[in-house]
Amino acid sequence: MKGTFPVEQFQGMQTPFYYYDTHILRQTLNTIRKEMAKHDNWHVHYAVKANANPKVLNIIREAGMGVDCVSGGEIEASLKAGFAASKIVFAGVGKSDWEINLGLDADIFCFNVESIPELEVINQLAASRGKVARVAFRLNPNVGAHTHANITTGLAENKFGIAMADMVDVIEHAHQMDHVQVVGLHFHIGSQILDMGDFEALCNRVNDLQDLLDRHHITLEHINVGGGLGVDYQHPNRVPLPDFKAYFDTYAKKLKLRHGQTLHFELGRAIVAQCGSLITRTLYVKEGAFKKFAIVDAGFTDLIRPALYQAYHKIENITSEAPLQTYDVVGPICESTDVFAKQTDLNAIQRGDLLAIRSAGAYGEIMASQYNCRRLPEGYITEDF
Ligand SMILES: *Cc1c(COP(=O)(O)O)cnc(C)c1O
Repeated sequence: MKGTFPVEQFQGMQTPFYYYDTHILRQTLNTIRKEMAKHDNWHVHYAVKANANPKVLNIIREAGMGVDCVSGGEIEASLKAGFAASKIVFAGVGKSDWEINLGLDADIFCFNVESIPELEVINQLAASRGKVARVAFRLNPNVGAHTHANITTGLAENKFGIAMADMVDVIEHAHQMDHVQVVGLHFHIGSQILDMGDFEALCNRVNDLQDLLDRHHITLEHINVGGGLGVDYQHPNRVPLPDFKAYFDTYAKKLKLRHGQTLHFELGRAIVAQCGSLITRTLYVKEGAFKKFAIVDAGFTDLIRPALYQAYHKIENITSEAPLQTYDVVGPICESTDVFAKQTDLNAIQRGDLLAIRSAGAYGEIMASQYNCRRLPEGYITEDF
């Protein structure tokens, strides 16, 4: 089975480009919305770093979500897309002064603070504006996510967050400051997580930390458990939606919220990965000594995940039904890592055939670069055709 694409309309277009299937995106958002409707104190903040295409952001905003930003640029993109500042959370280990000021001036929901020096700067900058910044502390829960080593973030060895042992001291330190108000705890253990046991481990850790806070008579308005839910890169057609039910049920069953506490999620990949494909045209089919190469016009400058994380993306020839043959699908960049797939079976390819590199909606277009002086890929949605 292949995905559905407006292939006729694609034919005359400049490639490569991203195509976002908004039926899948809306179906994904509706599924999340239904899960959210079961809990009046749960909120989802879409992690903008997964995909900041304005058309995609617009559809996500229409679904009523907030956003999770990791830079001033993302805050600007979110405000421009019409997200309410009151639904913006701002995370990141290295926030610049201008980025903090932007968040203060916009009056965002919360700064997710990762260190004491950062807390002090936020307090100073808020003081000079006569404001009080709402802050949550990002704690490093030392929970290992069973995912690629480059994308775990919740281990003690990672650069993110504050050590759990320091939590109470840090909160009490913040209580002495006049221009910050501690409103929550923040966690994020990694990405592309498919084992619900990892999220369960996070719940257990949060429960322990909340017990400790109780003993110090500290109650917080909210708990933010970050994102990280993975998608099925192998089967984008058969499994176009992540298992949101299993994911949210894990939190419903395992996490013990205190009275009146709100629970916040920051999902990125799970929301946008499956709706996106990178559409690329085959330039040449080269018969090597031992194998065939399909040389395409997209490279790692358009989609870096395979080169950066050895990530798998399913590839389909969307312009051919010819019998399957085996190819290495490679790009034009002058680097040996510019390979999208090795020894993959595709309907026999001819020059000019369009290939869809699937599940590319997250960490695809947004990570594109101009290395080799290449053009940045355009991004289109279903309604553009
Ligand atoms: C990247 C990131 C997310 C989103 O991660 P996904 O794996 O795309 O869901 C959420 N929160 C923070 C703090 C992040 O850095």
